[in-house]
Amino acid sequence: MVSELKTSRGEKLEYVANHLSEREIEELRLLLKESGLRCTSARLTVIQELKQAATPVTHAEMAEKLVPLGFDKATIFRNLVDLAEAGLLRRIELGDHVWRFEWIARETDADEHPHFLCTVCGEVACLRNLALELPSLTDGDVFGEVTEILFKGQCIKCLASAT
Ligand SMILES: [Zn+2]
Ligand SMILES: [Zn+2]
Repeated sequence: MVSELKTSRGEKLEYVANHLSEREIEELRLLLKESGLRCTSARLTVIQELKQAATPVTHAEMAEKLVPLGFDKATIFRNLVDLAEAGLLRRIELGDHVWRFEWIARETDADEHPHFLCTVCGEVACLRNLALELPSLTDGDVFGEVTEILFKGQCIKCLASAT
């Protein structure tokens, strides 16, 4: 399975093999195929990183991790965009002009959730336990479609250091 992946660099393959089981690779291969995307080591690695991330990840953060493994920045960015366009990732803009990407958990029905942004340090958190009634927001004349619910404030660390 792993050996079939298109790559020219041994360490990339090794990274995929070390972080994903054969079964996970096979599941992702099917998912990518359904989405019309080829299964490459770069895609698998990007997905793997996002799956284990607790919060949405920026392209810069992803590049910082993956460039040392032999992936180039442009490839990482293209993969993030392709996966988002295929509906496998959520692309989030939290008002700080930075795109963040997060894996959409397909196992859970309602994976949509608000995000929190610390205006001091830029820390982002997923508010997965916060249920909001979206329909009530769309009653007025102003709202067309709500694509992102954002909470801004100070994180625990910033609040503590400010007092
Ligand atoms: Zn903070
Ligand atoms: Zn999130």
